[in-house]
Amino acid sequence: MSSVLISLGANMPGAWGVPLETLRQAISELRRLSLTVDNVSALYETEPVGGISQPRYLNAVIAAKASISPATLLRRLKQVERRAGRRLGVRWGPRPLDLDIIDFAGTRYGWPQGRRQRGRLVLPHPEAHRRAFVLVPLLDVAPHWRHPVLGTSARILLARAGPQRRGVRRVLDSRWIMCDQAIS
Ligand code: ATP
Ligand code: CA
Ligand code: CA
Repeated sequence: MSSVLISLGANMPGAWGVPLETLRQAISELRRLSLTVDNVSALYETEPVGGISQPRYLNAVIAAKASISPATLLRRLKQVERRAGRRLGVRWGPRPLDLDIIDFAGTRYGWPQGRRQRGRLVLPHPEAHRRAFVLVPLLDVAPHWRHPVLGTSARILLARAGPQRRGVRRVLDSRWIMCDQAIS
């Protein structure tokens, strides 16, 4: 079994409803896809990055165990995104669901990063170390995580991300996956 970290993001309604419902449903789908979910982060509302004007995101990270290969996991995540109503759109643009593999058992693949090619898996995720909206929830579920290529702890990476941290606001604790917790 491999320990994996997966980030979840949503900022548009989709086939499963509003972003909060989509993220809940996504986790229950992941449980059906040969993933054992060990830990779920709190839920964060985050400012979009990438320069496209769009609604704020809800983001979370889960720690899980997988008995499938990284490529199979990515294919399955893409299937879940499609079922949630995601269609091909602008890179970094609004979407009902985005699922990224942040780390797959410390595997290093596709680094050092050259130009990214669509469809080509890179592990760890090539942008995770720069993104407060990934690092903050990641620290909830893997406080001692170190970046497998850079060797740097998540805490230090987050400090380096600087003011971006202020755009990440905790809105619900880790019980948000239970259906009776709503955003007030
Ligand atoms: P970003 O990848 O910068 O977060 P994005 O999530 O908006 O941007 P997508 O359109 O969802 O981008 O994915 C772009 C490509 O990234 C996909 O074709 C996917 O195959 C590839 N990819 C490479 N490495 C990973 C990874 N570790 N996790 C998820 N997708 C990856
Ligand atoms: Ca992404
Ligand atoms: Ca993605």
